[in-house]
Amino acid sequence: MWSGKAKDVLVLENEKVQINFRDSISAFDGVKKEELVDKGKTNCLTSVKLFELLNNYGFETHFISQINDTQILCEYVEILPVEVVCRNISAGSFCRRYGYEEGLVFDQPLVEFFVKDDAHHDPLITQAVAVQMKLISKMDAILMEAITRAVNEILVKVFGLISLQLVDFKLEFGRSKSGQLLLADEISLDTMRLWEKKTGEKKDKDRYRQDLGDVIVHYKNILDRLSNIKKLPDYNPISTARVIIKLKKSVLDPAGEVTFRSLSRKGYQNIDNVRLGKSAEIIFNAVPTSTIQLELEAISEKILSNPLIEDFEFKIQHHPEKSVEQQSLEE
Ligand code: UDP
Repeated sequence: MWSGKAKDVLVLENEKVQINFRDSISAFDGVKKEELVDKGKTNCLTSVKLFELLNNYGFETHFISQINDTQILCEYVEILPVEVVCRNISAGSFCRRYGYEEGLVFDQPLVEFFVKDDAHHDPLITQAVAVQMKLISKMDAILMEAITRAVNEILVKVFGLISLQLVDFKLEFGRSKSGQLLLADEISLDTMRLWEKKTGEKKDKDRYRQDLGDVIVHYKNILDRLSNIKKLPDYNPISTARVIIKLKKSVLDPAGEVTFRSLSRKGYQNIDNVRLGKSAEIIFNAVPTSTIQLELEAISEKILSNPLIEDFEFKIQHHPEKSVEQQSLEE
């Protein structure tokens, strides 16, 4: 068994784990900690609700089922050493890092990556550095950002239904034995900031961090409101992928050479070489997932490119859902 700050993980047979939510709460790298009655149960049930909801919308998560009020059954995953934070409104470490006022709404949700490294206080890291340090692959980074943006879009809608503002949240990802990238860990009031829309009242772990009191009263209130949602919001997920197909370096490109000579004749003297390629945009009616990534790899390799002479690369992106008004304006 493995014990973290607020949960225990028991590895079972068949690549499954049992996660036990304890009543422990901590903040500031574990410097402040306490036991709060019903905290484990409330976080467990909130996580169950949110993972079920994300599974319903098509996300790939480690969550399999609820065992009881404080335990869940999940896929075994290796947790990636990088966690992802999405922010809609400024708060927390963002304000501390940049001396920025709390409560300012960002034009676009911001996505930040942090290294899971207690000794260095989980520093902010760029995707390029995380890839360079081999903490994650380039494709992991692309997919983690796309998934996080899609999760944000859905959670903003869901919490909006119950008059709450999703300020920010943190996601963890894990790799299953079969190589899938799954949303993992927990999603609860410990891992997000939620404010009352009308009053701005804080409903999340900041109540504990900032000694605002009644932590579990507010956690339970959110769980009740989530449980009372009768119908989940409609959502038309769209993910887009751009595949770029290039001739391998060793293959001659006569069309590229003709273009190069023509450009030289026209006086473009700084051009050294021209290689032509193809690109394809593929639109999926689905949220970004590891499965889509594998499908894209197969499509790019077997159908869009000729592996004897061509290489390909692709990027998958979450496409923000268009409002009905936006769609009719474009039509
Ligand atoms: N968060 C988390 N675990 C961490 C760090 C952050 O769940 O180890 C959550 C936090 O609760 C908030 C969001 O991620 O909802 C952004 O946290 P921030 O970077 O502002 O750091 P904090 O203020 O929590 O130190």
